[in-house]
Amino acid sequence: MGKPVFGQCPLCCQQRELQKSHYFGRALHLLWQEDGEAVLMTPKRVQLTAKQLWAHLLCAACEDILGANESYAHQWVNRKDHFPLLERMNVAVSFRRTLHGLEFSGTDIGVSTERLAHFALGIFWRANAHNWKTLGLQTTSIDLGALAEPIRLYLRGEGPFPDGIVLLMTVCTGHGSQGLVSTPSPTKGGMYPAFSMMVRGIKIRARNGRQFSRRDSSSVLRAFGAQGNFHAQL
Ligand SMILES: [Zn+2]
Repeated sequence: MGKPVFGQCPLCCQQRELQKSHYFGRALHLLWQEDGEAVLMTPKRVQLTAKQLWAHLLCAACEDILGANESYAHQWVNRKDHFPLLERMNVAVSFRRTLHGLEFSGTDIGVSTERLAHFALGIFWRANAHNWKTLGLQTTSIDLGALAEPIRLYLRGEGPFPDGIVLLMTVCTGHGSQGLVSTPSPTKGGMYPAFSMMVRGIKIRARNGRQFSRRDSSSVLRAFGAQGNFHAQL
């Protein structure tokens, strides 16, 4: 056991003993450990690595808050010998077909999009809260700007799902993507600030929909609230 580290936990803003917080959460870290090595993709490199991404960041109580939905999400990601979310979608009836693939209703296939959203925003928020050391001398973080505080309150259960954020989850059917973890990074080319990451076969994009027209915003948000849909990328 190392010496205890004290500091301000950025999730509850209290002075506390800080834990070894993992970038992608404890649950995914354990899966990663099971594998020994995983492919990590950063903006500059793709590498097979056993490196663990962690920092003294959160207090124990805040780790537990994020951990509950991390364990839930962990059940659905690619687990090397099987990929529960993709398997579930393969036997389910899709909600509709779009240009991008099949869409599934989370409710219809028995998957809590609210819990997956909490997991995903937990990682995007951590990416904003700390500059993480990844491969070599690289560090990574994202800037959520004004969205950081509403996300923090939502993660702690002190605020609603942040207004204006749209989360899109795509399940990758290609084997190449299924063991991959890529750190959150800004996506280029769109009109609005957007970030994406890959967590073992599940690609998650977060967009700030604040600038959407009212009609667009409500139609996109409706698709990704409690009734959220999954896209299968074909
Ligand atoms: Zn805390």
